[in-house]
Amino acid sequence: MSAELFRRAQKLFPRGVNSPVRFYEPYPIYIKSGRGSKIKDVDGKEYVDYVLAYGPLILGHSNPKVVEKVKEKVGEGTIYGAPTEAEVEFGELVKNASGIDRMRIVNSGTEATMHAIRLAMHATRRKKILKINGGYHGTHPFNFPSDSVDTVDFNSSENVRAKLATREFACLIVEPVMGNIGVIPPEDGFLEEIAQYSEDSGSCLIMDEVITGFRTGFFPYYRRKKVVPDLVTFGKIVGGGLPLALFGGKEELMKKVRPEGDFQQAGTYSANPISVTAGLETLKILSKTDYGKLKELTGIAVKELSSTDLTVNFETGMLSIFFSDKPVRNARDAQNTRKDLYPELFRRALQNGIFLPPSFDETIFLSFSHGRDEVAAGFAFLAEEGKRLWKGS
Ligand code: PMP
Repeated sequence: MSAELFRRAQKLFPRGVNSPVRFYEPYPIYIKSGRGSKIKDVDGKEYVDYVLAYGPLILGHSNPKVVEKVKEKVGEGTIYGAPTEAEVEFGELVKNASGIDRMRIVNSGTEATMHAIRLAMHATRRKKILKINGGYHGTHPFNFPSDSVDTVDFNSSENVRAKLATREFACLIVEPVMGNIGVIPPEDGFLEEIAQYSEDSGSCLIMDEVITGFRTGFFPYYRRKKVVPDLVTFGKIVGGGLPLALFGGKEELMKKVRPEGDFQQAGTYSANPISVTAGLETLKILSKTDYGKLKELTGIAVKELSSTDLTVNFETGMLSIFFSDKPVRNARDAQNTRKDLYPELFRRALQNGIFLPPSFDETIFLSFSHGRDEVAAGFAFLAEEGKRLWKGS
């Protein structure tokens, strides 16, 4: 049935899909349902899911409490174009956990980063953007190298300093843990140093926490480092599996947003009650959840993979397997791995009932709904297949 759906989809969507990573050879499995750590496809086959919709589903699929709240809310109407109590409660939770002064809720990570960058340009009256080589912030013009977008390597704070010292840049936008070129954690001091250089040069530091926000603990990742960014973006987890994201930060910047200031930003679906309800319930659950379990699950996966020579980068609840025996510290290192071997690992995993990201540069995610034995068995399989592929079979 997946094959038949794909045949029809190819006539409708570019390469048959609505986001590029969803296509893989020969055709993607079409999903019918998800519960906990598992998804079921339209042909009735079950998979343990380590994609988790690319990050939002930290509680797993269809968490009963989130589902119940959303069902209840849908019965009261889906959108009003007017404020609701839930958005206030949601905002208070995010503010307390992140330390940002104020925020604006939007619908996607792309929107959040786009507006954060626009706001930085508006506030600094500068036109250039500095981003990290291999960093991804959504599909808008600011994400791509051009005359107005320059790039530097992750974990090279000296290069960041030199670029920012030109005082041409409205902002530096960075994922505190890279998650779109495989997982690459920051080395000691990197985030603190670039925060200092941003301040020295009058550029805004935008922390893109779309993946990392509320992933490694009930806080944005920068709070581990005692860094205070000027602007922050959240998405994925804060929407509880529905479309919701936000940008926020320091008072002096956020007060420039209309109608308080003259920076235009608006949206019909912004803070829609269904997304806010899912996000609020998810954050309430997470605020009472011990992240130690997610850390333990990550440790189990990493331990299984340590039987290989492969490079495994990780943070709590997120990891990458690189076909290399050398450290991966930035996008260049990641691109120089044997990434050509990854699609075969993906294919063997899929056949064995494990759904991995189809592309080597996407993060493997874990959720609170995964079981210890499930993770141990799954990653033992991936370790064995990884070893075989690395040795050439
Ligand atoms: N920033 C980061 C760090 C992301 O990983 C992504 C999406 N993977 C985005 C922004 C864009 O978010 P969205 O897909 O919700 O537009």
